[in-house]
Amino acid sequence: MTAVDTTPALDLGPARALSCRECGHQIPLAPEFACAECFGPLEVAYDFGSVTRADIESGPKSIWRYRRLLPVPPDVESHPNTDPGFTRLVKADRLAAALGVKSLWVKDDTGNPTHSFKDRVVAVALAAARKLGFKVLACPSTGNLANAVAAAAARAGWDSVVLIPSSLERAKILTSAVYDGSLIAVDGNYDDVNRLATELAAENEDWAFVNVNVRPYYAEGSKTLGYEVAEQLGWRLPGQVVIPVASGSQLTKVDKAFRELAILGLVEDTPYRVFGAQATGCSPVSAAYKADQDVVVPVKPNTIARSLAIGAPADGPYVLDTVRRTGGAVEDVTDEEVVEGIRLLARTEGIFAETAGGVTVATAKKLIETGQLDPDADTVLLITGDGLKTLDAVENHIGPKAVVPPNTAAVRAALDS
Ligand SMILES: *Cc1c(COP(=O)(O)O)cnc(C)c1O
Ligand SMILES: [Zn+2]
Repeated sequence: MTAVDTTPALDLGPARALSCRECGHQIPLAPEFACAECFGPLEVAYDFGSVTRADIESGPKSIWRYRRLLPVPPDVESHPNTDPGFTRLVKADRLAAALGVKSLWVKDDTGNPTHSFKDRVVAVALAAARKLGFKVLACPSTGNLANAVAAAAARAGWDSVVLIPSSLERAKILTSAVYDGSLIAVDGNYDDVNRLATELAAENEDWAFVNVNVRPYYAEGSKTLGYEVAEQLGWRLPGQVVIPVASGSQLTKVDKAFRELAILGLVEDTPYRVFGAQATGCSPVSAAYKADQDVVVPVKPNTIARSLAIGAPADGPYVLDTVRRTGGAVEDVTDEEVVEGIRLLARTEGIFAETAGGVTVATAKKLIETGQLDPDADTVLLITGDGLKTLDAVENHIGPKAVVPPNTAAVRAALDS
């Protein structure tokens, strides 16, 4: 085993090497994602040096304020009006009252350029991909990633190749197609599309599949959610956080962010609990958690929460590790509960989340009702995508109270009925 701890040839800021999560084998920074020794997933290893709150606070109001903690060059290209991140952390008092918790915040990532948290991971992947010598940005996607990749490529003047399941929501197809890259709808589910992407990545050396061959860099982008939550709480960690789980990457990286902040002395090292949220129609990680298993058995997804519909989640076992280590849990909710979760958040906080947000809110509710979430601890819910992209999930449940002729008596009658 060679430890690569000298300055790498490639300047990706504090990133020093890729390190295997399973066996610890290290290789120089490269577009690799699997360990040659044991096939375990590779993760970015860093040497942060010293990073202060002032360093971060003097940065732009985007994910790039944390560039000293990310695998991106020090002079990472910044476009203040379109960079993702530094989204609102909303003190959600009305939702807190409805759920019966004392202090609740909603991290509202609908405010990103393409209205989901995926803009974060794509921005980091693109910055690394430039340095790694790629020319085309690509991905297999459950929807939001398609939007984010197509838009980021357009902005950068790159070509994009985006693969989606043909059954995707109409809105997510159109909001990817509008950027005019190469959008390919595949007859198959996400797991089929993902396998196809892995094959294509092996055949096309200058295509950066953000979540395949540059996945180690991409995945680090999710840390920014954790950094922001801590900074926006006034440089402290929340007591508990509820995070939607698709591949499971985001959940593990928010935990990684909290630990890094504590190690760097940027926050006090206070205990926190991480909770995962899934839709029952695609809940392989929740099933493993409840069965007290370490192995995540793949499932065939069947849920309206299509952005979370990954039947074989790559980071599932690490999600289990994280929630068990921190004293959290993984829970799942039905599609009816997802719709109720979307409506509850909208009704109480005026925030319209997509189905993944409905999963998070409904799971939080269930975790409180079953005594798994502590109603007295500071709680943060990650709302990762915008409801305008999943209108089909709610269209049969909501609508106008009445259709009336244009006179005041008719409006009054409708309001009284
Ligand atoms: C992709 C996605 C997630 C989860 O991502 P993973 O890191 O794969 O678990 C959560 N919410 C939304 C809206 C997403 O699009
Ligand atoms: Zn290994």
